[in-house]
Amino acid sequence: MAVKQQARHALTLTSLLLSLLLQPCPTFSEELTWDQNGYVLYCPCMGRFGNQADHFLGSLAFAKMLNRTLAVPPWIVYRHHTPPYANVHVPYSEFFQLEALSAYHRVVSLEDFMEKLAPKHWPSRQRKAYCFETAAQRSVDKKSCPMKDGNPFGPFWDYVGVDFDASVLFAGISFSAHHQHQWMKTFPPSEHPVLAMPGAPAQFPVTEEHVGLQRYVVWSDQMVEEGEKHIGTLLTRPYVGIHLRIGVDWQNACKMLKSSEVGPHFMASPQCVGYNRQTALPLTTTMCLPDLGEISRAVKLWARRTSALSVYIATDSESYSSEIEKLLKGKVKVVILEPDSAQMDLYILGRADHFIGNCVSSFSAFVKRERDVRGLPSSFFGMDKPGISNPREEL
Ligand code: GDP
Ligand code: MN
Repeated sequence: MAVKQQARHALTLTSLLLSLLLQPCPTFSEELTWDQNGYVLYCPCMGRFGNQADHFLGSLAFAKMLNRTLAVPPWIVYRHHTPPYANVHVPYSEFFQLEALSAYHRVVSLEDFMEKLAPKHWPSRQRKAYCFETAAQRSVDKKSCPMKDGNPFGPFWDYVGVDFDASVLFAGISFSAHHQHQWMKTFPPSEHPVLAMPGAPAQFPVTEEHVGLQRYVVWSDQMVEEGEKHIGTLLTRPYVGIHLRIGVDWQNACKMLKSSEVGPHFMASPQCVGYNRQTALPLTTTMCLPDLGEISRAVKLWARRTSALSVYIATDSESYSSEIEKLLKGKVKVVILEPDSAQMDLYILGRADHFIGNCVSSFSAFVKRERDVRGLPSSFFGMDKPGISNPREEL
């Protein structure tokens, strides 16, 4: 009798476990349910991939701080010199796993939000925009958020399929944890279910406390597969990956360093000089715009130190591949990927045995953060040991 009872018990337990296992994950099933805690929507409207990635981490933290689901926007890719000669909106999941984000916080893709939730819960003619008073000052009536004014704003919300019907302005509040309570109090989800903003609710560059959120940004299976194929066929380990940010736009940006107004904190430079303004190390022109001399020095040093058999060059313009080949006396294979792809470059740099990046570039910063998560070593042009001055000690 007792035995029978136990058996029945086990059976119900198994079926219970089975039914639990077979139950689809609530966040990613077809049936999305509305989050009563509300949503955060924003346009990644500032800068290219590196800037958007920095902003993404801060926005993810902001959504968590307000306990709202983040509607993860697509990446805006600017294709004005190659077909289709317009912005391309690439869903987050083409490059990264959306699911991996939910280990940190609730997310839904902006595309799914629009397709599956908005028609019922955020219908047109009830769509409010939220922005700083100062941003609204730019509008004709000085009271409207400039949600769709110009590029990339207009094309972004058109891609999403949204027009805004009203604006809610705020001032004297920032996106930092310092104002958490004020956000919650001013915009309770019952009255303000969807906070849609013209830009990311985050700082650029990413703040120190949010750098580690990079661990939730995990490459999609397709990117891994393609990336590993490139690494396997083109490169021989150990390989050094370098990021050359040296094009004309960058040369102009780095000229600003010569003016006294720019301190050590300039774009992504806190990753090198430190986040604390008081203790920040000096930012040199070489760190911003390494010349061929510095590029050669650093590549030679790290190729020797890691006994590299190949060097992978990712560049925004020139590659200096023949110079680097000559420098390494033809003993090390020098590789560039053509046609180049920003994300594939990031992937391959991320997996290198050593990475040399650009201190000021947020594109480099993406690679540096990812490598830090994986415990892989990185250095910078003009700074062999990040965070430690005396950059040329290794000469
Ligand atoms: P930042 O300007 O360096 O802070 O980084 P951003 O990502 O905001 O802007 C630079 C953009 O230039 C990238 O998004 C790419 O589109 C392009 N770019 C820069 N470096 C490289 C590179 O090494 N490879 C490729 N494919 N593109 C690059
Ligand atoms: Mn940029």
